[in-house]
Amino acid sequence: MDERRLTDTECALYGTKSCALLNMPDCEKCPLKGRIADPAIHDDLRLFCNLQPEGSIAQLFESETCTLCKEEPKGKPSCFAVFDMAHTEPKKLATRKWLSKNETGFMVPLQFACCSKCRRRILLSSYLPLITPIVLLLITLPLVLPEHMAQGLRKVAMWLPLAIVAFAIIGGYAIGKVLSVLYRRKCESSMYVDVRTHPFVDAMTEKGWRPLFNDRQAHIAFTKKRIDKGLGSAPGTVYEMPDWKENGAENEISD
Ligand SMILES: [Zn+2]
Repeated sequence: MDERRLTDTECALYGTKSCALLNMPDCEKCPLKGRIADPAIHDDLRLFCNLQPEGSIAQLFESETCTLCKEEPKGKPSCFAVFDMAHTEPKKLATRKWLSKNETGFMVPLQFACCSKCRRRILLSSYLPLITPIVLLLITLPLVLPEHMAQGLRKVAMWLPLAIVAFAIIGGYAIGKVLSVLYRRKCESSMYVDVRTHPFVDAMTEKGWRPLFNDRQAHIAFTKKRIDKGLGSAPGTVYEMPDWKENGAENEISD
């Protein structure tokens, strides 16, 4: 059932829920390899479970339908939209102060199962401010570059050719921004074009999680294959495993 290659039977985490939650493919690649067994690791990971909204983070990547579609029928997932969130707890993990103003404890990738239509819409809305100036430049450059055309324009005003190019770039960017906002509004009725408005992100926020990067636009990365190792990548069944010390054996659980 467990395809991970767990070879280090001496490890304090071997066979525990903590190990399953860390979800490393093999003991050699585990970041905790060779570290002195620290019982606090179990406390940290228990806290991580308690900071999960109902159903756990795994429901996003285990969903058989697109998690960003709002309307039925929802699309078939073809990729994952990855959005990173961070928590200020636990404090002792706070080693990445450069990432945010607050000290960062846990960091997890939310991996939204995403259909090709939702992916296309998110990409188009974010690239419109770049696409529009390029299109305008392609239209205006043939009017400005040929010498006879430029001469004609300079007769009207010396600065006119330059002004046309400047408008194509600056105006194009501004027009692209407006188009992007309008396009997002159009898409919002049928999908979560801004993942930060997704109910699961709301549920995470209620548990104290925040977007890792607090920018005006959500940082989304798309990936064909989901992130399948590290904290937050374990299957949903792992969260339902009995707790570390509940079945009598200290830090150990049976299968
Ligand atoms: Zn979709």
